[in-house]
Amino acid sequence: MSLRIGVFICNCGTNIGGTVDVPEVVKYAETLPNVVCAQGNLYTCSADGLAAIRKMIAEQNLNRVVVASCTPRTHEPLFKKNCELAGLNKYLFEFVNLREHCSWVHLGRPVEATAKAGDLVRMGVAKAGLLAAQEDQTTAVTPATLVIGGGISGLSAALTLARQGYRVDLVEKQNRLGGILQDVNVLFPSDEPAGGLLTPLIDAVHQQENIHVHLQTEVTAVKGFIGNFTAALRVDEHDEDLNVGTIIVAVGAEELRPHGLLGYGRYSNVVTQLELEGRLKTGTDGFKQVVMINCVGARDANRPYCGRFCCITALKNASLIKAAQPGARVTVLQRDVMAYGKIFEEYYRKALSLGVEFIRFSQDRPPRITGRQKKADKVTVYHELTGKTVVLKTDLIVLTTPLIPAKDNQRLSRMLKVPIGNDGFFMEAHQKLRPVEFPADGIFIAGCARYPADISECVAQGYAAAAKAAVPMARRQVVTEAYTSEVNPLRCSACGRCVEICPFGAIGWAEARNNEGETIRIARVNSTECKGCGLCAASCLSGALQLKGFTDEQILAMVTAVRG
Ligand SMILES: Cc1cc2nc3c(=O)[nH]c(=O)nc-3n(C[C@H](O)[C@H](O)[C@H](O)COP(=O)(O)OP(=O)(O)OC[C@H]3O[C@@H](n4cnc5c(N)ncnc54)[C@H](O)[C@@H]3O)c2cc1C
Repeated sequence: MSLRIGVFICNCGTNIGGTVDVPEVVKYAETLPNVVCAQGNLYTCSADGLAAIRKMIAEQNLNRVVVASCTPRTHEPLFKKNCELAGLNKYLFEFVNLREHCSWVHLGRPVEATAKAGDLVRMGVAKAGLLAAQEDQTTAVTPATLVIGGGISGLSAALTLARQGYRVDLVEKQNRLGGILQDVNVLFPSDEPAGGLLTPLIDAVHQQENIHVHLQTEVTAVKGFIGNFTAALRVDEHDEDLNVGTIIVAVGAEELRPHGLLGYGRYSNVVTQLELEGRLKTGTDGFKQVVMINCVGARDANRPYCGRFCCITALKNASLIKAAQPGARVTVLQRDVMAYGKIFEEYYRKALSLGVEFIRFSQDRPPRITGRQKKADKVTVYHELTGKTVVLKTDLIVLTTPLIPAKDNQRLSRMLKVPIGNDGFFMEAHQKLRPVEFPADGIFIAGCARYPADISECVAQGYAAAAKAAVPMARRQVVTEAYTSEVNPLRCSACGRCVEICPFGAIGWAEARNNEGETIRIARVNSTECKGCGLCAASCLSGALQLKGFTDEQILAMVTAVRG
């Protein structure tokens, strides 16, 4: 069938038309090989613009469509859908970005911008002629989720999914659910006992028939892709395989134990906030001169991040001791008090009104601890605001330390093929737009595994991750784009570069027959896992891997076209 290409060029209001002479580019497009019609529109994405494309497809019997307009990120799916509505396979559509790639970057240079717009359209038309119809792929989704980590984030996610009718396997490495909260005394900002929140949640999880709790269990391997993961669990020496459609990582974090810093490990009365929480469960008797030191092991060269809720934890425990023991002297040494938001600002004021004292120190003049034998009895600190050195007698020193990444993160990251940031916490796909998703489809994240967060944030993220995981399970299937890599078995030399380089673990091995009828090993792409990034195609030395929609032939046609 001969090629019949239609080209539609958008003014995007004045975004493109204010710089590029669109009528000139339309006239030029009409002269290009195989182009049977070209049109300019004020807004090609408007209902009128889309209707005009559909009309031309029908009237001119178009078998390729090129739209030159704004960003493909938001608009490519719209134009592809429009082609489908007109009965044209959506993969016979080509997008040219005239806004970001031309008018915006060449603002004030209309002549050059118009010439470049012509070049870009010529490249798009050249590629369009080599496009082939493709079919999306559909994969069935197992309606079950593996939640790794039984803290408040994992519990919230598990309950949300189970209540929607999905099977959940909740894997916890310890012999109890609840995570860090099991060791917390009362909760800011309400000062209610932590158990009051946690116990009913754990009971609800145990009573939920859709949740299968696996305590003292480790996930040792995960294979597969969205809709069809196989996870290997190990309990004692016993192994079990699970088939799930989605995975939620809620492995939390650990409180930093600052051995070697400020007398920790040397003096028995130097403890962390979490250790203090344990002591406070039995009361405040004997607490007379308490010094808390904030930002220990945080916001420094080794660990530049802020622990985010550590200041509030110190405010909580300082106020609690002061309220119970008004005669006690409670001093918080701080570099900044991070009491963000209305509630925590009030919480800070409450601590001040109770008589908790605050002394500001700087990072280059940290407090010094001295003591006798196993007991610290003095803290010396340079008061930044008064410019005087203060000596505080003490019977208890509490170090406020940040949460640090869980020990197992690196192993999990490799196993699940999900990224970890510079600070060692798991990294979401996009901080603002995809905060509870990983780049790998079907794997989600919630809570302190991502960064230090308080309970309200952890619960919100647990719900959000569950909602995201429920989407493919409710649909019972996932549709994946056809633009994935494929291997030409006759060219593959089985060097393994593509297997190593694929960030999604989408390439494995398969057996094939060569021209001599011998069995050989070749790379095989799992198209459900392939995200079409093209790394494998770019690194394949024998040219065996091609990315559909961006084949060597198509790219070379564009390069040839731009050279004119
Ligand atoms: C001293 C202190 C006081 C605090 N006080 C408050 C407060 O008053 N109010 C408030 O809102 N927040 C408070 N917090 C914060 C609160 O504890 C956290 O927001 C919350 O516990 C985080 O929950 P999580 O589920 O994300 O992680 P975690 O509680 O860490 O739970 C993660 C779970 O995953 C498990 N796990 C880890 N790795 C694996 C693995 N590979 N396989 C299986 N299981 C695994 C862990 O054993 C753990 O049970 C405090 C924190 C501290 C340290």
